[in-house]
Amino acid sequence: MINPRPLVLFNSLTRQPEPFSPVHPGEARVYSCGPTVYNYPHIGNMRAYVFADVLGRTLSYKGYALTHVINITDVGHLTDDADAGEDKMEAAAAARAQSIWDIARHYTEAYWADIAALNIRAPAQWSIATHYVPQMIEFAKTIAERHCYELPTGLYFDVGSVADYGRLARAQTDEGEGRIEEVEGKRHAADFAIWRKTPPGETRQMEWDSPWGRGAPGWHLECSVMSGALLGFPFDIHTGGIDHREIHHPNEIAQNQAFCCTGSLTDPANSGARVWMHNNFLVERSGKMSKSSGEFLRLQLLIDRGYHPLAYRLMCLQAHYRSELEFSWEGLGAALTRLKRLVLAIAQLRDRAGEADATPGPKFADLLDRFDAAISEDLNTPLALTVLDEIVALKKVDPAEKLGAIANVDSVLGLNLLTLSRTELRIRPMAAVIDEQTIGEVLDDRRAARADKDFARSDALRDELAAAGVEVMDGDPLGWDWRVP
Ligand code: AMP
Ligand code: ZN
Repeated sequence: MINPRPLVLFNSLTRQPEPFSPVHPGEARVYSCGPTVYNYPHIGNMRAYVFADVLGRTLSYKGYALTHVINITDVGHLTDDADAGEDKMEAAAAARAQSIWDIARHYTEAYWADIAALNIRAPAQWSIATHYVPQMIEFAKTIAERHCYELPTGLYFDVGSVADYGRLARAQTDEGEGRIEEVEGKRHAADFAIWRKTPPGETRQMEWDSPWGRGAPGWHLECSVMSGALLGFPFDIHTGGIDHREIHHPNEIAQNQAFCCTGSLTDPANSGARVWMHNNFLVERSGKMSKSSGEFLRLQLLIDRGYHPLAYRLMCLQAHYRSELEFSWEGLGAALTRLKRLVLAIAQLRDRAGEADATPGPKFADLLDRFDAAISEDLNTPLALTVLDEIVALKKVDPAEKLGAIANVDSVLGLNLLTLSRTELRIRPMAAVIDEQTIGEVLDDRRAARADKDFARSDALRDELAAAGVEVMDGDPLGWDWRVP
């Protein structure tokens, strides 16, 4: 890009939009909190990674050399984000009488499948928490004397030992007392476990020796350790869902301050990262999305119902990442229709463009600049999508140049617009009882009947398809001849 605009990102730590200024010139180092692999991710979780992917793609688009790390939490995350409840992984393993390691492998692979289906680029590194336990123990040893204290249940971090604890959450140290399970002897309600000792007489599937006894690391420790080890403090951007702004990230920041011996958070770099970014939640009409209540909204459920996963990606992009987004099947259907229209228009362009080289010409300079302006304004994807619509609608331009402009924009949006085909978008729902080849054959017969003006037979064939759950769509403006409603 010739004159890229400055990228402005909203920093949760300062609650301000700020021009992005990399720690290492020309580079962007980003860490995203990954999933806890005790269950399948729901589509709300996946919204967090669509957001992180758009951020990463934008940084690449702007010419920064990106290093993105996403972790896999396979130890330490309790059923409550603070120190209450059981370890999610241990609980899942006990409930299913399986080894934690098998559970972690299964759900990590399921998560990676969703990542690929949503066209989320693989990060430079997936860091697996259990691979970093020795480093976690070393990190804890470094901060233990000045910032921690030991209780019979474990090693705890004293949140009063660092400047501005909780600034990210805009919370007072003792706020949320009711929420946090009381541990006898804690100095502040918000103090949290760095190391959890295995209770006497118990053994856990996942436990390691440490100077504080056999046990397992606290959840917050892993992200401080892996982000510092892989990206170096301070790095550029740390991302996560908005829930992490309240407990997990303030605790990571406190650990980073302790480890790096940094002071007040009026300088964001003292937190370990210059910018902290949080995506808002995907919600259901009934409230918060959960993995346990009602229908479990996995990406695979959407696919089983006939929706292409990239329709869900587009649905995410239609909202700003800092806005709450309500999931509905109607909304998903509308996003699928929008995607079909784009793919249809682009297929026609491809037919016209032939083999010509796809570079956007000067006629697209203004539109591409407006796209850049939208994305530079704290990743305004809804606005960027309207610019894409304008590019697709532009008349009297060379089709190859137009494809070039679309490719440029899609490198950020990641909708696979240049390769996605109409047939791929039409996924057969799992419940369908008829295969595509048979549908094609019946439709061919029906076309022949209509050509012979045998309308009775044509209607009978349509009814035959209807009985198999397939709706024939004569004259559909998108060029689809059937669908499974
Ligand atoms: P978890 O596996 O629970 O650690 O969550 C993985 C990521 O998904 C974290 O960044 C969470 O903040 C984020 N997240 C959880 N629920 C939602 C939701 N409903 N919408 C968007 N992001 C979410
Ligand atoms: Zn984390």
